[in-house]
This record gives sequence, C-alpha cells and structure tokens, in this order.
Amino acid sequence: MYQFGQASDSIRSSNTGAQFETRNPADPKTVTGEYVSTPPETLQEIAALAAQAQKGWGALPPVERARIVTRFLDRVEAQAGQITLSVTREQGKPLAEARGELGKSLREARFMVSEGARADGQVVPAQRPGMRNLIITRPRGVIAAITPWNFPVLTPMRKIAPALVHGNAIILKPSEYTPAAACLMAEAARDILPDGLFQIVLGGAETGAALVSLPAVQGVTFTGSVATGRAIYKLAADNLAEISLELGGKNAAIINDTHDMTACLDQVVNAAFQCAGQRCTAISRVIVSSRLADEVTQGLIERAQRVRLGDGMKQDTTMGPLIHADQLRRVERLVQQGLTEGAQALTGAQRASNDGLGDGYFYQPTILSGVDPAATVAREEIFGPVISVLTYSDFDEALQILNTVDYGLTSALFSNNNELVQRFLNASQNGMLHINHGTVPDDHMPFGGIKNSGVGAYSVGSSSARFYTTEHSAYIKFE
Ligand code: NAD
Repeated sequence: MYQFGQASDSIRSSNTGAQFETRNPADPKTVTGEYVSTPPETLQEIAALAAQAQKGWGALPPVERARIVTRFLDRVEAQAGQITLSVTREQGKPLAEARGELGKSLREARFMVSEGARADGQVVPAQRPGMRNLIITRPRGVIAAITPWNFPVLTPMRKIAPALVHGNAIILKPSEYTPAAACLMAEAARDILPDGLFQIVLGGAETGAALVSLPAVQGVTFTGSVATGRAIYKLAADNLAEISLELGGKNAAIINDTHDMTACLDQVVNAAFQCAGQRCTAISRVIVSSRLADEVTQGLIERAQRVRLGDGMKQDTTMGPLIHADQLRRVERLVQQGLTEGAQALTGAQRASNDGLGDGYFYQPTILSGVDPAATVAREEIFGPVISVLTYSDFDEALQILNTVDYGLTSALFSNNNELVQRFLNASQNGMLHINHGTVPDDHMPFGGIKNSGVGAYSVGSSSARFYTTEHSAYIKFE
C-alpha cells in the first residue's frame, strides 16, 4: 500500500486535504494507495516556493544542472523495481510493460538532459556594421504539469527532465488514478534537487484547474483528453501562460502492400493492444486494401485470440485490465454502438470475466470488420483493445479515410511503393508518420500531434526547448 500526501518536502499536501485511494484495476477490491489531496488554497504558497527555488537553479550553468538531474535519474533507475511495481499495481499493465515504460522514460530523459546541457542559442549576422546579433534563451520559470493515468512514469518524466535541465521549477499533478510512481520519483529527488524545485500536488480536476490558474505559473504542459485540454487551454489563457497540450488520437495503419505480412501484423497488434489499447498512440483503425482484407483480418483475429488477459503481476499475462469501471463501460458502449452502426465483431466485443479474472476491468481484445468510415468507432477515440478494420479500393480513398477524423497524432503506412510513401508523407494529417513499422516512437524524436491531438511545442527531442525556455533577441554594438 502506498501512502502519500502528508506534508513532506516534495509531495505537497496537508492534513486537511480530502483523502482518496487507488485500487488495483485487476482486482478492484484491493486498495493500492491512500493519498491526501492538496487543498487548492495552499497552491499559492507552493508556487512561491517553486519560484524561489527556480531563481538559484535557473542561474546555474546548464551543464551543472544536467549533472544534478543525472544524479536524480540515476536514483530513479536504482529504484526501478519499486516504481515499476507501483505502475502495475495501480495502472494494471503487465510488469514487463511497466519495466519497458521506465526504461524508455529514462532513455528519453537522459537524451533530453544532454540536449538541455547543450542549449546554446544562435549567432545571427547583423544588419548594421560593427554589430553582432544573438538569439539567446532563458528558463521559462515555473512550469505546471498535469498527466494522465496510462503512463504513470513516462509522461511525468517527459515533463520533469526537460523542465529541470532547462532551468525551470516544476509542479506536477499526476493522475488521481496512478499517483504512486510520480510520488516515488519525487522522493527519489530528495537531497538531490533544491527544495521546492520539483513538487507534487495531489488530487483530481479541481486541484489541476487551480494549479494551471496560478498567476505564478509561466508554462502549462498537459497530457490527457481533448475535453480537459480545452478547459486547461482556457484557464492558461487568462494568465497568458505558454501552453503545450498532448491530447488523444484515432491512429491508423494503412496496409497497402508488404514484403513481410507477419512482421506487419505483429507490429499493428502490438501497437493496438499494449496497455490494453489505452495509449494515445494506439493503432485503432486498420485501413487495408481490399486485395489484402481477408489475409489481414484473419491475421488480426489469430493474434487477438493469442492475447493472455490477466493480472499484470502474473508472468504469463500479456494484457492487463482497463483502468477503471467508467473506462470499461465506455469501451462496452462504443463497441455496442459500432455493432448497431453495422460493424461485425470477428472476435471479442465483450467484457472478460472468466478464468479467474473476477471483477477486474478486463475487456476482450476485439476486431471489428465492415466498419464504415463515418461510424462512431471509426472516428472516436476508444482507448481500449479494439481494432476497427476498414477497406479501400484505391490509395486516394485510403488517405481520405485516414484523414477523416478530428485527431492527428500518429499514423503508419505499410507499402514499398515509393510514390505512395511520398504521398503519405505529404498528406497524412498527423504529427508522427511511420513507414513499414508500428507507431512506437524513438527516444529522441519530437513527439506530438496536430488537429485535435495537440497544441504547442512537441515534447522530447529538440522541440521541447521551445516550451521550456523563452527566447531573447540581443543586439551588441562593439565600439
Ligand atoms: P483526463 O483528461 O481525464 O485527465 C488527465 C489529467 O487531467 C488528470 O491528472 C486529471 O486529474 C486532470 N484534469 C481533469 N480535469 C481537469 C481540469 N478541468 N483542469 C485541470 N486538470 C484536470 O485524461 P485521462 O483519462 O487521465 O487520460 C486519457 C486521455 O489522455 C486520452 O484521451 C488519451 O488519448 C490522452 N493521452 C494523450 C497522450 C499524448 O501524448 N498525446 C498520452 C497519453 C494519454
């Protein structure tokens, strides 16, 4: 049982805050954590502490900041076992996936730390003689970060590491469903980072809204749903705070032709069912040439039926439960609506409760075929283990189906036809474009989306500096 929230150095709370608990989604009777919310009225004080800590931290040379943040990352790595266990217990994903998540978050963070240490601005030729122009950057100040429940380590770390190395203070509100990992990371920072530089606040929507409304916050980075992103954008606008929103997706793989159908389908299914489909980059639509429809559909069914649902703590589990009862009901409702709107269920399409799964929020891996591009399941983010198969007869139609949704996060094309690859790279309305592999991103590439999938600078890689720093044009005259 994790217990966080009594006033401590980095997890800001108070004995008067409302209490809340987390439960194991594989076995909802089991309470996994007890927490105390941060009362919104204490946030001003928390922000003042952050601003104070940021002054000294922001003045350190970037290489020195990088050295200190690296010590913090080393400690997180040393505590990997405890942190990954908390992810499986609160989020439900298999332990191997939780380990993979922690490993990826550390690789990304270490890359971002070296990237931030190098942040050096630009020398630009001046218009007037005897002058030199510079573009320099400075830390933005106090950053508010709000994260969802699907990646309790990766998403917070994607914000913590670049915020710190670029010289900012960060106040993080993790999801109320999975706060343990972030709290453990904040504890790992103790004695390494200055007091107040990285603080956690706990609670739900109310705490989050109060946090992003603080006038002392100069940047708001949010990952979560479109509806919450819209609400946060409005709140941040009142203070004209910089914004970075990473929102949902309705990602597709177009399968036109492939030299290796086995590898293609393995990657599609992996991208669709990891984290029980609760990934913003999950492939939830397979748009297949009608020539290959039977082969692809058969391959998807076989792979879906091989998935072993179960408690993430068990060795042989390959897919865990959905996060909570509402999410389970949402997936059930959307699949049912898909069937009503004409789709056929080829496998799954119902809750799984046999074989010792008990009351866990398990949903069977599901393949729907005959899905109309206008159907709800083809347009709305489901965030569950559901693949909708849509067919096309020519590539124009494939691109049209691909782009018909409001989202624009990630997409994949399987084809060895150069012309089609070029057309896809130019026309796919998504922030991330993959050719001949699934939607797993590299550890150093910009990560983000367009349309309803994101606003502002992408995270990871070089792009994140645009959010975490401010830019200054300097004109120097040598007399
Ligand atoms: P959510 O939007 O419900 O909650 C996300 C976070 O926002 C939580 O910490 C929550 O407490 C907080 N919050 C809720 N209402 C708020 C408000 N009014 N003001 C301030 N904070 C508020 O999302 P979720 O259910 O936790 O996560 C699922 C969603 O996240 C999906 O839509 C998914 O696509 C998206 N997501 C996107 C990415 C990405 O990188 N694009 C990554 C992971 C998840």
